[in-house]
Amino acid sequence: MMSHMTRLAGLLVFVILFVALCIMALPGGGATLAQEAAKAPTQAPIPILAYHRFDPTTPGPTTVTTRVFEQQLQWLAAHHYKIVPLRAVVDSLRGTAPPVATPAVVITIDDGHRSVYTELFPIIRRERVPVTLFIYPSAISHATYALTWDQLKEMLASGLVAVQSHTYWHPDFRKERARRTPADYQAFVDLQLTRSKSVLESRLGIKVDMLAWPFGIIDHELEAAAAHAGYVAAFAYEGRLATPDADLFALPRIPVSNAARGASFGALLSQVSSGKPNP
Ligand SMILES: [Zn+2]
Repeated sequence: MMSHMTRLAGLLVFVILFVALCIMALPGGGATLAQEAAKAPTQAPIPILAYHRFDPTTPGPTTVTTRVFEQQLQWLAAHHYKIVPLRAVVDSLRGTAPPVATPAVVITIDDGHRSVYTELFPIIRRERVPVTLFIYPSAISHATYALTWDQLKEMLASGLVAVQSHTYWHPDFRKERARRTPADYQAFVDLQLTRSKSVLESRLGIKVDMLAWPFGIIDHELEAAAAHAGYVAAFAYEGRLATPDADLFALPRIPVSNAARGASFGALLSQVSSGKPNP
């Protein structure tokens, strides 16, 4: 009786091993994870546009007139570009969401100038355009040129506006590094990255995990500090499209000037090669 049971158990082990070997031998059964990942669709290049200020009539070095901005929106619609939230593109580049269908474009605005509320907000509300604002909170409700907390809250409530970090007071990290000791500089960088995130999160009740580098200044030490502070992506001004092989903490954005109209705006959206860094 015992020997019969032992033989049965032995047969069972043999059958299990045989079935396992058959499964491994099936076509695709031995495919590696890398091969599977290579088959997953990747994100096509996407332009992430960077604006600063808006004015009803007068352009400036970083000011686009409302008329030109509206013409740019019309150009995008005429050329079948979908304006998508920055989060969708970052999630796709991080591999946590499917690729965003192209042609698509992202609109970001740096610095929190009050014209974002007075000039831009009425247009994006009318046209239902999603945008992301990169804000340095030390200026909010303090500097005369800046937005107020109430304006930010009102824009967030529209569901069209996202707010992310532009450090705490928009320092020039190159100058700060030159005039501080290494330990002091490291503490300064950490404060600029963490205080901005925590103040925006507590004042606005949002999650902040993206960062735009002030003046586009960026290096590996800053990138590591941003990752340590809890950011998942950070943005430079590099004048080229964002691609899946780009560094997640130095994602390129395209600065848009008032001269970007018609064909020249179209050319801006299709540049894959590196342009001049633009502070
Ligand atoms: Zn800035």
